[in-house]
Order: sequence, then structure tokens, then C-alpha cells
Amino acid sequence: MLKGKVAIVTGGTKGIGKGIADALSKEGAQVIITARNKAPTKHYFVQCDVSKSSDVKNLITEVIKKFKKIDILVNNAGIYPFMPFEKMTEDDWDKVISTNLKGIFNCSSAVLPYMIKHKYGKIISIASIAGAFVGFPNLVHYCTTKAGVMGFTRGAALDLAKYNIQVNAIAPGAILTPGVESGLGKEVTAQLIQAIPEHRMGKPVDIAATAVFLASDSSQYITGQTIVVDGGYTDQ
Ligand code: NAP
Repeated sequence: MLKGKVAIVTGGTKGIGKGIADALSKEGAQVIITARNKAPTKHYFVQCDVSKSSDVKNLITEVIKKFKKIDILVNNAGIYPFMPFEKMTEDDWDKVISTNLKGIFNCSSAVLPYMIKHKYGKIISIASIAGAFVGFPNLVHYCTTKAGVMGFTRGAALDLAKYNIQVNAIAPGAILTPGVESGLGKEVTAQLIQAIPEHRMGKPVDIAATAVFLASDSSQYITGQTIVVDGGYTDQ
């Protein structure tokens, strides 16, 4: 389905990003993954902190030199350090905004010249039901960024439609990943599972299937949308 396509997945070493990278590759895409830390992977890896525009510039230069084009960008890299708003410092706020929101600006604007040149592009960002659709405790900064991802998706979709670039987002519910396992703790995880109509945490593969659809030409007439994948959590 994606043979001949070149795809970048940010934060592709773990969790949802790894699931998406594996699924795009299985469909035939050449996949490039990024993260701040190198990890064992079968994909082409470039070290890149998405919050740093100089890192992102180097990433894009390397990918273009090696693979000549970029068809698909998955803005997945994100952090969610849990803390009550009362204890949140300016530094805490800035870290989350610069990764989850500025990172999306950095990566999307850097790939644009190449997508515009080929009159083809798919930009897919990982939002969250937290912030975009419901509140979530101890994550004010994170919720703010994920509502922002939805706004970015709508606005960019309008500006880029004339270049045949579709911009969409996925809002996952609770997905079992290394980040969630270490951040949520057993008690909150058990409460969440009870609150999910399907009574299970999602898996990275649940999100990856939607990402493959949005990366493919089957979704050519869909743009500016945020698709919820949450086992029915926000349906209640
Ligand atoms: P995860 O298990 O913590 O993995 C995060 C990945 O992003 C890692 O590869 C990490 O590698 C990378 N990363 C973090 N900061 C980065 C930066 N500044 N630059 C580049 N890479 C960076 O997270 P996850 O749970 O899979 O979440 C992935 C995305 O899905 C995030 O945007 C998250 O907000 C969203 N999401 C997750 C859930 C969930 O329940 N898991 C629900 C809704 C939305 P390094 O640490 O080496 O950089």
C-alpha cells in the first residue's frame, strides 16, 4: 500500500511511534525514525530532538540526501510528565510545549518545501483525547498541547490543501506504552481500564492501523480531522 513512499516517524524508538514505524514499513514504506536517544531498531535512525530546530534541520538534510524525498511525516514524539498544576514551574511548562507543540511546527515546516515540490504529502500528528476531547488530571501543560495539535491540524490542512498535502491527527485514548507504564502507576491504570468500555488498554498497533490509513491514498479526501481511537472512552 505504501511502496515507494518515504516516511519519517518522530519518537519511533518506543511505544506508539515504534508501532507506527513497524506498520508503515510492513506496508512497504522506507521508514526513518528519530528520538533523542539511540535504541536498537531495524529502521533507519537519526538522532533528533524535535524541540530543537537545528536538530530537525539536520534530520531533513540527511533524509533528503539519502532518500531524495519525504512523502509522510508522523509527528509522534511527545512527553507527558505528570504533576499537579499547583506545582508546575515555568520550566515544566516550557519543556512540554516545546516538545509536543513546537516540535510539530519544527518538523512540519521543515518537510514542507519537499512536499510542496512534489505536490504530495501526508502529515499525521498524534494528539490525545486528553486536552483535545476531555480533561485529564495532573497534565495541564500536556492537555494544552494536545488541544493545540487539533488546532494545528485544522489550520494547516486549509493552508496546504492546494499542494495536495493532507494534514490529520489521531487522538489515542489510553495506550499501553513504556511512557504510560512508568508514568501512570498500577492504581490509575486499573481505574482507567474499568472506565474504558472495551475494558482494556489500547495497543500501539491500534493506533498504527489508523496511521497507515491516513498515510495511504485511501484517505486522500480526508484532511483537517482528528480521529479518536480510544475503545469508546469518550463515547460515554
Ligand atoms: P513513550 O513510550 O514515552 O515514547 C515516546 C517516544 O518519543 C520515544 O521514542 C522517545 O524517545 C521520543 N521522544 C520524546 N521526546 C522527544 C523529543 N524531544 N524529540 C524526539 N523524540 C522524543 O510515549 P508513547 O506513550 O508511545 O506516546 C507517543 C505519543 O502518543 C505522544 O505524543 C503522546 O502524547 C501520544 N499519546 C500517548 C497516549 C498513551 O496512552 N500512550 C495517549 C494519547 C496520546 P527519547 O526519549 O529517546 O527521545
